[in-house]
Amino acid sequence: MNAYCIYLRKSRADAEAEARGEGETLARHEHTLLDLAKRQNLTITCIYREIVSGDSIAARPQMQQMLQDITDGKYAGVLVMEIERLARGDTIDQGVVAQAFRESGTKILTPIKTYDPNNEFDEEYFEFSLFMSRREYKTIKRRMQAGRAASVKEGNYIGTNPPYGYRKVQPEPKVKTLEIVPEEAEAIRMMFEMYLSGDGARAIAARLNQLQILPRKAAMWEPVSVRKILHNPIYAGKIEWHTKKDGTILADGRHPAIISWEQYQQSIERRKQTAPQVPTGYTTQNYYHGILFCANCGHQMKRRPAANGTAHMLCRRNECRGKVVSSTVKKIDEAVLEAIRYRMQELMLCKDTIRQDETHKKETAKRQRAKIEKALEKLQHQKEKLHTLLETDVYTVEVFLERSKIIQQQIEALEAELGAIQHEAEAQGLSPEQSLLWLQYVLDNFLGATPEQKNQMLRKVIRRIEYRKTQRMCYRKQDSDLSLHIDFL
Ligand SMILES: [Zn+2]
Repeated sequence: MNAYCIYLRKSRADAEAEARGEGETLARHEHTLLDLAKRQNLTITCIYREIVSGDSIAARPQMQQMLQDITDGKYAGVLVMEIERLARGDTIDQGVVAQAFRESGTKILTPIKTYDPNNEFDEEYFEFSLFMSRREYKTIKRRMQAGRAASVKEGNYIGTNPPYGYRKVQPEPKVKTLEIVPEEAEAIRMMFEMYLSGDGARAIAARLNQLQILPRKAAMWEPVSVRKILHNPIYAGKIEWHTKKDGTILADGRHPAIISWEQYQQSIERRKQTAPQVPTGYTTQNYYHGILFCANCGHQMKRRPAANGTAHMLCRRNECRGKVVSSTVKKIDEAVLEAIRYRMQELMLCKDTIRQDETHKKETAKRQRAKIEKALEKLQHQKEKLHTLLETDVYTVEVFLERSKIIQQQIEALEAELGAIQHEAEAQGLSPEQSLLWLQYVLDNFLGATPEQKNQMLRKVIRRIEYRKTQRMCYRKQDSDLSLHIDFL
């Protein structure tokens, strides 16, 4: 993100000066700012020219586009004649502009001064970002919140996305509400009926998946999303809204209910009665936390404790149902320790080869780095040349921007490559000897350690383990198809 852009906009005074025949302002400003870019060696990839002159952001399409791009983090900075050109509307607009710059950390460069939001001592920037007094800002914020709260109290749905079961509609201006999506509403009713007749969220999710009634975005229902639906008052025709001052507001919505208020209340009652599902100490007991992942879905494997002491590791995602089979923790421990023994043999046998390999890798990386640095230097040169071509009118501004963009892309690609090489060099953690020491330590101490110590030991030698097992064990079968893909450090 080393690209910069230019924002050009006429002030009212400029317009009057032009009327007196003092020449075209935007062209002059453009020249000045391009010159600034050249002096500071900045790559300009876009120029926003505001042709219409309106005070509010709504009346300034280029400003809207630029704010969007800034929010997306496209630029390191914006070049502008004076800071006032960015925002001179009402205070809300100023707040919006200030916030976009502050939150994305985008610099503002004028011919006189650079304002850096990342520098907290840059008081002028700070002043800009507040623009108005804090008090004013607070009033506006309060007014906006009050407006939203009032809208909710009137029963409007102001969320961005409609909840499952509904779509957003706006029957008249200022009225935002929901209408029922019939098939989805049918699924909602089924969820509540199952829940209130004793089924849990897990069973409900499994049933829906089995019937091929699927959620909007995910491939399958997961218990957590079912639970969210079961406890959302929106389905009983209510709108819920949280505020700091008044806590939770529950208003009658304008939208039609899918279930009755009684059903919703019963559902809340049932939630209160259900004991928490996760026993305490759950995560600390699981010493494979952050290490053992399901090869099928990529999520972490969970530990399921058992009364008789044989804890299992399993993937609880519905998408892995029937595809990923659980194992006892004991079996996994054995497999991991076996893999560690094997890894040690491997390391001992090829210590020298590994070391040669490392040296070779380092040299290759060094050569590559030199090559890239040379190429970067060349591009830097071309960048400077572009300015000359622009000044001597060989290039039009459009061609200049186009070429600048291409060069900038090339520079960024090379810099990324350079970063990757650097990263790899740093990631080459333990030497073979260090590895051997740690692996031996784990072998000697693992079984007697506490869960917490076990987790630390594993993390010292292993980056990640992928778990694969598709067949259930039975008393006739001797070997399991458990396979662990271990990424050693
Ligand atoms: Zn899985």
